[in-house]
Amino acid sequence: MKVDKTPLEGWLLKKIKGGTAGGECLTPEMIRGYQLDKIRETLDLAVRQSPFYGRRLKGWSGGDIAALEDLTRLPFTTAEDIKENPLKFLCVSQDEISRVVTLQSSGTGGESKRLYFTREDQEHIIDFFHYGMACLVDPGDRVLILLPGRLPGSVGDLLRSGLERLGAVPVPHGPVTDPEATLQVMRQEQVDSLVGIPTQVLALARCREDPGKPAAPRLKSMLLTTDHVPGSIAKILRRTWGCPVFNHYGMTEMGLGGAVECRALAGYHLREADLYFEIIDPATGKTVPEGQYGEVVFTTLTRKGMPLLRYRTGDVSRFIPGPCPCGTVMRRLESVRGRLSGKVRLGGNVFITMADLDQAIFPLDGVLNFTAGVSREKETDCLRLEITAADWAGPELAARARAAVESLPDIKRALESGALKVEISSGREGDKFNTGTAKRTIKDLRNAGVN
Ligand SMILES: [Zn+2]
Repeated sequence: MKVDKTPLEGWLLKKIKGGTAGGECLTPEMIRGYQLDKIRETLDLAVRQSPFYGRRLKGWSGGDIAALEDLTRLPFTTAEDIKENPLKFLCVSQDEISRVVTLQSSGTGGESKRLYFTREDQEHIIDFFHYGMACLVDPGDRVLILLPGRLPGSVGDLLRSGLERLGAVPVPHGPVTDPEATLQVMRQEQVDSLVGIPTQVLALARCREDPGKPAAPRLKSMLLTTDHVPGSIAKILRRTWGCPVFNHYGMTEMGLGGAVECRALAGYHLREADLYFEIIDPATGKTVPEGQYGEVVFTTLTRKGMPLLRYRTGDVSRFIPGPCPCGTVMRRLESVRGRLSGKVRLGGNVFITMADLDQAIFPLDGVLNFTAGVSREKETDCLRLEITAADWAGPELAARARAAVESLPDIKRALESGALKVEISSGREGDKFNTGTAKRTIKDLRNAGVN
């Protein structure tokens, strides 16, 4: 089947060539040349203007980067660096900052992280949203935005602007707090598509309304956005709404947008005009050979307020070798598998990740969301799952979840060896939904002095 080429290719060509592209085609050499120029500019800007990089990269200048490979000589930037003193990253005066995003740490006692954006930085975000949304939305389509959008410059607000430029009709809504009410809005507004966080859209799919009401309309497409989209959720949503489910990979540090799937749904195409991606071995820091898994690292190419050089995301993925079925020359990143920190050892040689648990738990009818933690009780590790269940879910949900978790091969082995206990509790959704901004990880409480 012939699949339309990702609209990101035209976007990238426009960014590289400006108005002078003519009938030219994008080539990998053009992308690399552009990215090299932008890395040099960014390095010069950061060393000159940001107190953090001025000290960290003293003596460096853009001229030291003769080829993209030379970037690997620069040290990494980490989340801890930003937490320590985010203002030291600024390359402009604080008056020129039009948006500050504060990210609360998901861990206990962790400091929050602050990211700063100028108006120009926000313009780049809108531009990426415009072309990124063209992957799944056509002009005239009505698109429900289930992301926070009340404040100017918030993700929902920038997405609204991007959709307007595309000629689509944004329907701002904000995070789901009452699934039934949101379904009602979908019917009234006759939406064609939606953008949301996986667990929130799952809550919509699993909302069983009054049977007298007309069924929610079918959708043309939907976009799930987060760092890691559980494959089991995407499958349920595809079935429920009868439409393709596109994934977007992004985080605030990237400038909200990072990468989005094309209609081939075979990996993300990256926001290559604004970000340069690397995959590194998290243990050695060395670049891994093409196609191998490692940690995703990115460098901003156009950011003016708070550029980041070689920022470690903690996400695990790889570049998919070979061309995309859509025929673009742009690279593809595989769907992010989870977080480096998300791998938890349960005695012996048994490891478990949130992605493993996601695959076991989300397919169970009635599950809306869950959290997972590991604690130690005497000599035994205890894996504790707290499930948020739909109102209509039966009391046997916890037992079904237990069976699903215990059938995971690694868990099974740990249980048999007596090194592990599994505890599962299930509660009603109430009025509180996880808005999903915190990363989904297994909380390891064994060495934290908790419990
Ligand atoms: Zn493609």
